[in-house]
Amino acid sequence: MYIDRILAPIETLGPGKRLVIWTKGCGKHCPGCANPELWSTAGEKKYSVDDIVTIIRNIYKDSAFDGVTISGGDPLEQIDELLVLLESISDITNDVIVYTGFYYDEIINLFDSVRVEKLRKLVAVLIDGPYIEELNQYDLGLRGSSNQNIIFFDETVRDKYEDYLSQGRKIQNVYMGNRLISVGIHNRKEESH
Ligand code: SF4
Repeated sequence: MYIDRILAPIETLGPGKRLVIWTKGCGKHCPGCANPELWSTAGEKKYSVDDIVTIIRNIYKDSAFDGVTISGGDPLEQIDELLVLLESISDITNDVIVYTGFYYDEIINLFDSVRVEKLRKLVAVLIDGPYIEELNQYDLGLRGSSNQNIIFFDETVRDKYEDYLSQGRKIQNVYMGNRLISVGIHNRKEESH
């Protein structure tokens, strides 16, 4: 699976302390995308899902997190690996957010019903749709632009998300090696997710 980084604990991409994975690979190329360096997978290292699961479990052992957020890139461009990964960590948490540049209507046409049902079972919240810079509004929590939808596949998490969303956008600065990364939903001309 092509991934760029795993960071934890992150508190700006969903409620609680979360582990966040940024996947690589996205063909949408939205103007204003925060992460264009994650579009291409050419020449990039592919990690086995088992290795990624081991990393996640080690992080959880050291410091338990409340949920997982998968961003990118577009995680659904690697849907088979993604589903295996989510199944493998489903004992850790059922609070999983997946961002995608596809709308849900596209997803149900792109993938067969088995994959879609698995996605609905393993993902609590899907945030769908491409980033449209003109629709980036500063008061949109968890979303880069207002065309994107927050879809609850698991209704039991809705209350805590609504509380989190009422707090607006949040930004967290994290060191990765000696590089400072700003994580969260940014206002226009900055990062989208
Ligand atoms: S905003 Fe998301 S969907 Fe759009 S190009 Fe960037 S990673 Fe892809």
